[in-house]
Amino acid sequence: MRIYLIFFKVIKYNKNMSESSRKILSDHNVSITNPRILVLEALMESNNPQTIDDLQKRLGNKVAKSTLYRVLGDLKKISILHEFTSPDNTTVVELLLHDTEHHHHLFCSDCGEVIDVELSYQFEELLNKEIRKIEKQFDFKIQDHRVEMFGVCTDQCANCK
Ligand SMILES: [Zn+2]
Ligand SMILES: [Zn+2]
Ligand SMILES: [Zn+2]
Repeated sequence: MRIYLIFFKVIKYNKNMSESSRKILSDHNVSITNPRILVLEALMESNNPQTIDDLQKRLGNKVAKSTLYRVLGDLKKISILHEFTSPDNTTVVELLLHDTEHHHHLFCSDCGEVIDVELSYQFEELLNKEIRKIEKQFDFKIQDHRVEMFGVCTDQCANCK
């Protein structure tokens, strides 16, 4: 019954993943370590945001849980990890490689899937206009917004297979 919205371009799985993981790390001037590469690859393997448990399952015993948390912290420090909570307060993470990426999320209350969606340019423009008005009215600097959409997958849903 719940869906959450936030925006960005889906990072597609690509065959040269370990190479692009390396590039991401070197582009951000952090050292290239095996756990960092494995965690980045696990993040890139899914088109949608994942819970820490999902990530841990993907990584199996290649990366210990404490290491996973440490690496996620490292990725947050270089501002390429977007972390948020689902309606049931589970932490969900996704790679967000560029500041300009903006998208929203659908939250399924049934299977817990979180799905990336982009809203139309017209909608975002309209919302931004409203935000400018609210900033003036409350003398407040708004840095981001969320539109949350809550619901359930249908039988045909391809996202939670
Ligand atoms: Zn579902
Ligand atoms: Zn997302
Ligand atoms: Zn938006």
